[in-house]
Amino acid sequence: MILQVLYLCSAVLFILSIKGLSSPQTAQRGNRLGMAGMTLAILTTMASHFHTRLLGVLAALVCGGGVGFIVARKVKMTALPQLMAAFHSLVGAAAVLVALATLLSPQAFHLGVRGALPRSVLTEIGLGVMIGALTLTGSVIAFLKLQGRAPKCPFKPRQARSINASLGLFCSVLLAMFVGTESTWLLSGLVVAALLVGVTLILPIGGADMPVIVSMLNSYSGWAAAATGFTLQNPLLIITGALVGASGAILSSVMCKNMNRSLVSIILGGAAQENPSTTSSGGGAVSPSAGGAASQRPVKLGSVEDAAFVLSQARSVIIVPGYGMAVAQAQRVLGEMAQQLKQKGIQVRYAIHPVAGRMPGHMNVLLAEADVPYDDVFELDDINADFGATDVAFIIGANDITNPAAHDDPSSPIYGMPVLDVEKAGTVLFVKRSLGTGYAGVDNALFYRENTLMILGDAKKVCEDVIKSLKAV
Ligand code: NDP
Repeated sequence: MILQVLYLCSAVLFILSIKGLSSPQTAQRGNRLGMAGMTLAILTTMASHFHTRLLGVLAALVCGGGVGFIVARKVKMTALPQLMAAFHSLVGAAAVLVALATLLSPQAFHLGVRGALPRSVLTEIGLGVMIGALTLTGSVIAFLKLQGRAPKCPFKPRQARSINASLGLFCSVLLAMFVGTESTWLLSGLVVAALLVGVTLILPIGGADMPVIVSMLNSYSGWAAAATGFTLQNPLLIITGALVGASGAILSSVMCKNMNRSLVSIILGGAAQENPSTTSSGGGAVSPSAGGAASQRPVKLGSVEDAAFVLSQARSVIIVPGYGMAVAQAQRVLGEMAQQLKQKGIQVRYAIHPVAGRMPGHMNVLLAEADVPYDDVFELDDINADFGATDVAFIIGANDITNPAAHDDPSSPIYGMPVLDVEKAGTVLFVKRSLGTGYAGVDNALFYRENTLMILGDAKKVCEDVIKSLKAV
């Protein structure tokens, strides 16, 4: 009874944690509540196994906790999505291993006798294996894609959808046959097929669809944990897994809505459009210099002094941060630059695209870290209409989220994605290191527009130099 009450307390702490994480103002409190919930859950589980395998649990805790501690301290903010993908793959692997162990030794889990397991248990085992295996390989492929190391996808999106639908059907048949026979061979076949689904599902995903995939894998890892919870008859694991699964699914659906994408078409594999560029690496691995003929067009290059002058003459400025700001860790110095402009009486606001950076909320976290006032930060829908009445759009380390190909080019992998209409501002200042492409590997026609001035350089260095120049203006 005490055990159940303590588990319930952990679950409540997790729910409060998720609520806290829904806003930058309460995110730190949410994080602390989550940590408290997890500590309580671990201590409760250890106490409930006090007489049996405490030493083994402690050893696993020290090893796992130690590795997690070291990795979390070392990882750069820009590599967090990869870290998340790597951790999701571990959840998938754990679900597969627990399910296999349950089948091979059901007595150890008080589930019945081998060869005569109830169908409900076999269904849990089968589902755990299936979801876990596809989460495992799917997350590994997502990790490689985010690192820009994924292998080339050998098939087109339409082929991918047929392959995934056939494999999905095959898995369902294997699952049904396994539940009917309790055959270890059939379960092994299910593991292999589901591992394959993870690869064929994620490999063709390109450009603008990766953010949805990252949150979808988060959701899958939650369902894999919930399936393990059913197998182990652990209510806390069921609740926690369901919380992660449901919140990841809701986030995926919200992101799909924001990105103008169909969740079903992404789940079945590949972008909604047939596009040759999505059949390559599916984003991330495209050469930064890939610009093709477009990069031969004339470009207006400016100096930091030019940028400082244009900014100082403006009445209103909208800053658009992107992945490059995170890479350069330019958020603090950007905040100082904005502060300096405000002191000159210039209105300064920040426009945040839902998929700017490499994880949901990436820019909000960085700007909060730099103490940028929340009131200055606006989501795409709330600020997009204001670019037309703005003197300067200051794009810092962003690219895809401003690319008009999303409106103009039906063959582009980002077609249909809403973008920030920065070109409507009087002057567009683009701060980046080259004319190279962003994550989706698509050339950006904005670089070559009349009202665009490219300020080539590292985001942090450019902001530092603009601050110096602003003092002189
Ligand atoms: P992009 O990847 O489109 O562009 C970032 C730009 O930053 C690059 O073009 C690069 O150009 C520049 N850059 C890199 N380093 C620096 C630096 N040190 N200083 C200045 N500039 C730098 O980023 P966006 O934020 O515009 O768009 C996000 C993209 O990531 C979208 O395609 C989205 O779909 C995808 N994505 C988003 C995820 C999410 O959850 N938010 C998850 C996975 C993918 P250069 O090399 O010339 O400097």
